[in-house]
Amino acid sequence: MEAIASGVLLSLHIHDLGYRAFSRNRRAVSPVPVNSIEELLFAGQMFLFQGIAGALYKLSMILKELFMGFRLANIDGRASLVLKEHYYDIETISGGELTSDLMLALGAASNLSSLSGSLQEHKPAGKLADVQLGPPVPRPSNCYAIGLNYRKHAEESTLEIPPVPMVFTKHSNCITGPEGEIEMRSDFVDYEAELVVVIGEPGKDISPDVAWKHVFGLCVGQDISDRPVQFSAGPPQFNLGKSFDTFGPIGPWLTSPDALKDRNSMEIICKVNDELRQKDNTSDLIFDIPTLISYLSEIVTLDTGDLIFTGTPDGVGAIPGNYLCDGDVLITSIDGLGTLRNKCVRISDHSRAEVMPDALAKLLTAARTKASAKEEK
Ligand code: ZN
Repeated sequence: MEAIASGVLLSLHIHDLGYRAFSRNRRAVSPVPVNSIEELLFAGQMFLFQGIAGALYKLSMILKELFMGFRLANIDGRASLVLKEHYYDIETISGGELTSDLMLALGAASNLSSLSGSLQEHKPAGKLADVQLGPPVPRPSNCYAIGLNYRKHAEESTLEIPPVPMVFTKHSNCITGPEGEIEMRSDFVDYEAELVVVIGEPGKDISPDVAWKHVFGLCVGQDISDRPVQFSAGPPQFNLGKSFDTFGPIGPWLTSPDALKDRNSMEIICKVNDELRQKDNTSDLIFDIPTLISYLSEIVTLDTGDLIFTGTPDGVGAIPGNYLCDGDVLITSIDGLGTLRNKCVRISDHSRAEVMPDALAKLLTAARTKASAKEEK
């Protein structure tokens, strides 16, 4: 009898927890009259059942808050969370607990997850359609980039698939927003649609099996390249040719990996005006994201806000000679991550704008011969 009574007391307690989980009005649970042992047992079972259901519901809410995905955008230089067509200012909705500094927000993924779970309770700061977004990582200390990381792109370039990731850097001055203008200084500027990884938790010697824990988010990027400058030194040095101011559009926002249906498989598309130029899937990456993070972190400490441009699919403009022209609108999309729309503007000539380096001329001749032989087949 004593055991049954304590069981019922426990059930009442669990029931109360369950009730509290469901209800916003935390009224006390009224005592229930029982007339027999059977009724007491039945009541106990019911309380227990409701209690477990309530506890599970509460647990699922806590887990949802802890692991909810989020989208972080740069609106007027302030860190903002995006939900459908609206945005929410992080400093405002956190009551000043979190700052509006985007670089600091990149170190607070778990706080943003929790905040994201309660977005519906707040009033949005405005509509995305009414604002221009800036780069979601405005001041990265390092921008790594990977060459020849899609098989078909390596083949179209007539280059061997590298045995280890082919890493170069883009200088952080090149970073611009999802709608920023691309300022071109020769007639040989090319597009490269890319998936960009943003590091959250810093790390060194990161093994591939824990690499995703260091990823704050993913976004769309363009690795814009002035091909003559890229190939003007011998051997070619990619960094300067790909680092002109505005040559690194990223955005439209950062999406946390847990907000994606499949972070390993997303369609990537590049259009110039309405013409489709590149189309592939990120599942075709030769070196996947965990491999790239592991490889890079063996050599350098990866820091919060570091970017990794993961490489471009086939269809770049240089081989057929379809370079970007003044007034073109470059549209880059990745399924689940959003779209960049960058207008191309031809502003002036750099000092080598008219010089076609031998290395580039040879590579293009080989690639065009290969492409026309393939077409004849
Ligand atoms: Zn690239």
